[in-house]
Amino acid sequence: MIIDCHGHYTTAPQALDEYRQRQIEELKDAAHVPRKGTLAISDDQIRESLENAQLKLQRERGTDLTIFSPKAIGMGHHIGNEATSKYWSELCNEMIHRVCTLYPENFVGVCQLPQSPGVRPTNCVAELERCVREFGFIGCNLNPDPSGGYWQGPPMTDKWWYPLYEKMVELDVPAMIHVSGSCNPNFHATGAHYLNGDTTVFMQLITSNLFKDFPTLKFIIPHGGGAVPYHWGRYRGIAQDLGRPPLQELLLDNVFFDTCVYHKPGIELLLKVIPADNILFASEMVGAVKGIDPETGFHYDHTKRYIDAIDWLSDADREKIFHTNVQKVYPRFSTIQGG
Ligand SMILES: [Zn+2]
Repeated sequence: MIIDCHGHYTTAPQALDEYRQRQIEELKDAAHVPRKGTLAISDDQIRESLENAQLKLQRERGTDLTIFSPKAIGMGHHIGNEATSKYWSELCNEMIHRVCTLYPENFVGVCQLPQSPGVRPTNCVAELERCVREFGFIGCNLNPDPSGGYWQGPPMTDKWWYPLYEKMVELDVPAMIHVSGSCNPNFHATGAHYLNGDTTVFMQLITSNLFKDFPTLKFIIPHGGGAVPYHWGRYRGIAQDLGRPPLQELLLDNVFFDTCVYHKPGIELLLKVIPADNILFASEMVGAVKGIDPETGFHYDHTKRYIDAIDWLSDADREKIFHTNVQKVYPRFSTIQGG
């Protein structure tokens, strides 16, 4: 079984976007009392939104199942206030639940959290619990910068985040570290802000004892780990200069990387530098990079091709990357699939 651990519902029916536009419009009226409201989206509309996109690509590319979450750039935690994020996150997660209910063989859910700048992440606990216990989701996406490119909150290793980590540990769910849109014009969202977020959090982890406090807490750093694998020597050296333990010992029981790197040399570097035990197959298909690479004639985000083409990768490591690491990092996956 080949599991893609990183997919977003980028093709959700138009009515979801229209809801969000209305919600943003209403923010202009300071007297407006926010309400959750409802969405009129039929099961057929959901089927149509997936059949010629993610489901078609699963079939064409030979992947079996996608760990699926709301559109990351759409999370927009910087927009509005706590109530805005709460209602928006609930509706987006309910859409993912409907997708997973319609296609239980193809999708397993991961939730968006109702983060908001300056608001303690304690406010995310109830939605995480609802998604895991009621919907059977197996993880969450956690935005290290809800201010959208201005990094105004405390680092992810600060005790500010601990109540959420306590709940993640209790529920045995990991978080994919995933920023959303950038409202800082210096940072293109998917080209700079995403990779900054991945790299920044890894460096925060090097300087902290977070995993001493939470030995079973797990983070997936997506997009191939940002700049981390390419600069592994730099990070090892910085850790050494700071008197920190070797990175393997310090972080690799808790930190994992995905394969959303859109060319073969990049994937090879990732696989050479990071142990196979810490790599999860992912494509983020129909996501940040939708085009076809004229050099290969295939989609950039067809990441399975790059892995398939690496002849020095052992079958045992391939199996870990495509399948068994998911069971380790997302312990609830086996429960869902078994049940
Ligand atoms: Zn993503």
